[in-house]
Amino acid sequence: MMQPRLEIQGLVRRFGGREVVSDVSLSIAAGQVSCLLGPSGCGKSTTLRLIAGVDMPDEGVIRVDGQPIVEGTTRVPPERRGIGLMFQDFALFPHLTVEQNVGFGLAKAAPDRRARIAELLERVGMSRHAAKHPHELSGGEQQRVALARALAPRPRIMLMDEPFSGLDDRLRDDIRDETLEVLKAEGTAVLLVTHEPTEAMRMADEILLMRDGRIVQAGAPYTIYNNPVDLPAAAFFSDLN
Ligand code: ADP
Ligand code: MG
Repeated sequence: MMQPRLEIQGLVRRFGGREVVSDVSLSIAAGQVSCLLGPSGCGKSTTLRLIAGVDMPDEGVIRVDGQPIVEGTTRVPPERRGIGLMFQDFALFPHLTVEQNVGFGLAKAAPDRRARIAELLERVGMSRHAAKHPHELSGGEQQRVALARALAPRPRIMLMDEPFSGLDDRLRDDIRDETLEVLKAEGTAVLLVTHEPTEAMRMADEILLMRDGRIVQAGAPYTIYNNPVDLPAAAFFSDLN
């Protein structure tokens, strides 16, 4: 088997006496979208924060392309993990143009800087808005720019935490499809957090079903949907339409 892009073994995070992330293990290949799916409060965001490096686990190993970024006393700082982030409240810089926002994470002197910005603006369909500021854009357009900005430095892994929850229903399906298309074209490994089964069913290659800090079932969307591991898992999927 190919070496996974992201590999996690036995991740544990406790707050006070309470275990919020319990023995979480997973692996994601380049070009694969995995959805961490579960109800509010089950530990999804905490897991993402541990991978991003803004929080530290009590136990466990995290590897990127086989290299440990967290293991024992090894703690690679967040900015050197090759990770792109997209959160619901991870806003664009209001004083920068669309073009400047997308270029923010790229070295000023990088020879392919202009080409990379143009490529991404094209990919997310925002080329003709390059000179605008965020306040001149709709919510969906801002979301597209945020995606381009996160992908610009060619992250090895994209972590996305409920990135579409601020958008209205009518827009959301389209943005999900467009986002998936862009992520696939870039070939990055994606860990997408959501509490909505429909979103996971629509976007995931693999669903990791989480409950009370544990991954209780992992598999292809329709495998999980058709063979839920237990009654609570079945109930969780039952509002799917
Ligand atoms: P989810 O993203 O699945 O909704 P979270 O990972 O945000 O869940 O939270 C999981 C649990 O951990 C919740 O009960 C939350 O209150 C708790 N929690 C998260 N961060 C902290 C913290 N810094 N200190 C104490 N408890 C926390
Ligand atoms: Mg959360």
